[in-house]
Amino acid sequence: MTPDVRDRAGRPHHVDRRPAESCPIPDAQWERALELIGRADEVALACHVTPDGDALGSMLAVAFTLRRMGKRVVASFGDRHFAVPRLLRFLPGQDMLVAPEDYPAAPELMIVFDASTFERLGLLCSNAATAREVIVVDHHPSNGGFGTLGLIDAKAAATAMLAEQLVYRLGGRLDRDIATCLYAGLVTDTGSFRHSSVTPAVHQMAARLVATGLRTDEIARELWDRSPFGYLKVLAAALGRVTLEDGLVWTYVTRVDRAAYGLPYAELEGIIDIVRRTDEAEVAVVLKEDDQGDWQVSTRSKGRVDVGSVCAALGGGGHHNAAGYTSHDSVEETMAKFRRELRKAS
Ligand code: 5GP
Ligand code: MN
Repeated sequence: MTPDVRDRAGRPHHVDRRPAESCPIPDAQWERALELIGRADEVALACHVTPDGDALGSMLAVAFTLRRMGKRVVASFGDRHFAVPRLLRFLPGQDMLVAPEDYPAAPELMIVFDASTFERLGLLCSNAATAREVIVVDHHPSNGGFGTLGLIDAKAAATAMLAEQLVYRLGGRLDRDIATCLYAGLVTDTGSFRHSSVTPAVHQMAARLVATGLRTDEIARELWDRSPFGYLKVLAAALGRVTLEDGLVWTYVTRVDRAAYGLPYAELEGIIDIVRRTDEAEVAVVLKEDDQGDWQVSTRSKGRVDVGSVCAALGGGGHHNAAGYTSHDSVEETMAKFRRELRKAS
């Protein structure tokens, strides 16, 4: 199962199959997961709404593995307007996706990826509530332990790391499709191996994945280095009103900004990465108005402030340095509430 990895000179290069750091999830929990999966004829997979590379990639990697084991597999996410974000359309395995309305109402076994709460499942919340068993595969520190079995490691840099282990433990093998999905998760959640979550185990996993013959250059272009022209215009509007106040940099993007260029909401994901580079700010915020008129709030910290707990206080959640929540207030009111919580946390 260990891939045949060679260095530039063509010499065999040993890459450990298992991460160097020990996994805090007890073996008994993995065993229980295998037992539940072994017993099920159909496995229903889900990930969080408006999936990112980690959510969708982890789910599809496990979906491939289960399908090869001969299981019936359905996979979905609970968005009202069900569509795979354009950035992720290059991921293989999308024929296994079904819209939420075609998802089993009461699955015998559901496996949920990268979701820290029930609510993150959107329309699939009710399916999870009636499922006989719900295995939760996640790495959010804010995960409160919903579901009937948790495979949760808050130190893992991506849910994809746990998904990879699940693939191996199911007796699966890395091939290029599975590796593409897992790699999309790993690079997305580590910010291309830049975040503080990056450990030797992250790079060892990347080595295993790349060894299957991945085109990392093509994946990088799909994920980060392309966009419709309208994105530049919307970015310009967002940057035109960016505000710096006391260590906080923030801006917003309205539905009207996007409508002028027919730009889908999902295209806004990268704006926070530009705003957060501001030297003078410790915390960055981007308010993105979705198609329903609600504000999806993206927040980032450079490390001193735990935006995960700030966002949790505002009804959302996430990680220490990257978190979010939904606001139904105006921009001004949303920011007033955010500042208040930020002051408490600083
Ligand atoms: P992003 O700003 O990239 O949308 O989200 C950053 C992180 O914040 C995500 O990885 C996710 O963990 C978390 N997050 C974003 N929005 C929400 C939300 O509405 N609820 C919760 N619980 N977490 C969120
Ligand atoms: Mn993740």
